[in-house]
Amino acid sequence: MPSLYQQIQAGKLWDFHGGVHPPTRKAQTAQKPIAVLPLPDRLYIPLRQHIGVAGNVLVSIGQRVLKGQALTSADNSMAVPVHAPTSGTIVTVGDHTSAHPSALPENTITLAPDGLDEWREQYPLNLATSDNSSLLERIQLSGIAGMGGAGFPAHLKAGLTQPVDYLIINAVECEPYISADDALIQEGAITIVKGIDILCKLLSPKAVLIGIEDDKPAASAALKAACSQREHYYVRDLPTKYPSGGEKQLIQLLTNKEVPAGRRPIDIGIVMLNVGTAFAIAQAVLDDHPLLSRVVTVTGETLSQPQNVLALIGTPVSDLLNFCGYQHKQPYKVIMGGPMMGFTLPDLTVPITKTTNCILAPSKHELPPAAEEQDCIRCSACADVCPASLLPQQLLWYSKAKDPVKLDEYNLFDCIECGACAYVCPSEIPLVQYYRVAKAEIREQQRESVKAEQAKARFEARNARLEREKQQRMARNQRLAQAREQAQQTGSNSNAVAEALARIKAKQTEQNSVPADREQVLAERAAKKQQARAYQAEKAASEPHAESEPAPVAQDEARQEQPAADEPASAKSAAVAAAIARAKARKAAQLQAEQQDKVVEAEQTKQPEATEPASEQATTDPRKAAIAAAIARAKAKKQADSEKP
Ligand code: SF4
Ligand code: SF4
Repeated sequence: MPSLYQQIQAGKLWDFHGGVHPPTRKAQTAQKPIAVLPLPDRLYIPLRQHIGVAGNVLVSIGQRVLKGQALTSADNSMAVPVHAPTSGTIVTVGDHTSAHPSALPENTITLAPDGLDEWREQYPLNLATSDNSSLLERIQLSGIAGMGGAGFPAHLKAGLTQPVDYLIINAVECEPYISADDALIQEGAITIVKGIDILCKLLSPKAVLIGIEDDKPAASAALKAACSQREHYYVRDLPTKYPSGGEKQLIQLLTNKEVPAGRRPIDIGIVMLNVGTAFAIAQAVLDDHPLLSRVVTVTGETLSQPQNVLALIGTPVSDLLNFCGYQHKQPYKVIMGGPMMGFTLPDLTVPITKTTNCILAPSKHELPPAAEEQDCIRCSACADVCPASLLPQQLLWYSKAKDPVKLDEYNLFDCIECGACAYVCPSEIPLVQYYRVAKAEIREQQRESVKAEQAKARFEARNARLEREKQQRMARNQRLAQAREQAQQTGSNSNAVAEALARIKAKQTEQNSVPADREQVLAERAAKKQQARAYQAEKAASEPHAESEPAPVAQDEARQEQPAADEPASAKSAAVAAAIARAKARKAAQLQAEQQDKVVEAEQTKQPEATEPASEQATTDPRKAAIAAAIARAKAKKQADSEKP
């Protein structure tokens, strides 16, 4: 039995499940030459036109740029730059309606062309002398993303390091109306094959398989002629069936291989690129011509001149429509993409991007509005045509129920949104719309889940760090304690003990060495006490009745004597006590003298006859004078009492 490769070489083709045969309606554009659109007044260049991240903006408002100049950087592998499609001035950098079903605004550079179409300097590469890294760098810096609709960065596919059996070039273009690739192949087959040569240098495949539908005989012939000198380049004419251009479907058609769910073609040794991408790679490498424009099919019954147009990236859809004779009398919907997978535009200022292959402006007769949706009748027509062998009615049911588990179980993400199921549905159910919404919700849930997981991981990492630090502290303290204990045991700590003892001794010495002042104060206090006692004795001798009442000074001395004898009061407190005692003694003596003066004065007032002797006594002894005065007062009182009636 021949091997797979032998079967492929022999021209064998296979088939995939399902598919539909809608009217192709390509004839009105496919046979016309590609027209070149005049420079528009404004170009709206979205920063991100691919799967990945946008590069940083390299230009500023008011800056003049040259044709081919990079407007954004390619500072990581998932960034693909955008370029100035012509020379002109940067007008704004900000939001503009996106070329997306959501029509959400996205960051966009607006360029005002100056009409000069002035190029920057160009540096073509020599394929024979260029290494793979410089080729890949050129592909990335030229801003090339998959032009078949997915927009995957081309340098990532071309730079795969896994072994590649087959490089498949997708020239199928199976969706009705669209003939952009057909026209490009007819006019640029040689350049396309040069692009395939570059990809072969990078990927070293066993064979190149170029798939094209059999309704494009002119393009097929052009490709075969261009490949005639290449060994292992095989152009295969495929039966016209939608969606033969799907990645998995085309792989199955050409190799009979199936890409497992959730896996990539490279996992089975296959890399696939679009024919337009190969053309762009050749221009980038061999001419240093970045991706500045692309062929767009502008078609529909509302146009007087439907045709394929080479349009600059960023051209507003309205410019293309006007160029092709758009009839405004009965404005109807305008679709970006084909009738099966495209979406209705919110307004006509939306720009052409790197992945835009068709602008369809149909009449109501040509593409009637969708009829009202009916209930599913479970006819299974959708399952019969599904090229991914899914169960679209089950997916519809679980999409409405918002059941992500069941949707995953029924492989929602294997759906390529080809629209074949909706095309055959008798209930006019817009099945693909339901799937798109369900996918978006699940992706959002997954993003939230990832965020929650990351937050949880951060929290756990913090707790682990704190616990680790705590354990380290405890271990350190334990080590220090052990070291101290060991030092005490070995006597190495004796110095510290000796020092402590020395400090205690010094303190005691200081206390013992009482200053001479203190002894002096004590001596003074003793002398004063002696004086007080002498005075008290003298007083007692003169006043025998007063023995029971010690003088204030003596009382103070007695109060102070006990603590002075019991404890060594400080020198300062002793001096203060002595001063207080002296002050009290002075005050008592003064008070006593004043009392005696008052008594003498009273006696002199009441008994003039006794004044002289009393004065003499007072001058000699005040105490005796006071006694005499008291006696005199008693006598006077007695006499007064006896004279009373
Ligand atoms: S084709 Fe439409 S009506 Fe029939 S089973 Fe599918 S979803 Fe239901
Ligand atoms: S849109 Fe999805 S479910 Fe419907 S036929 Fe295509 S792949 Fe199948």
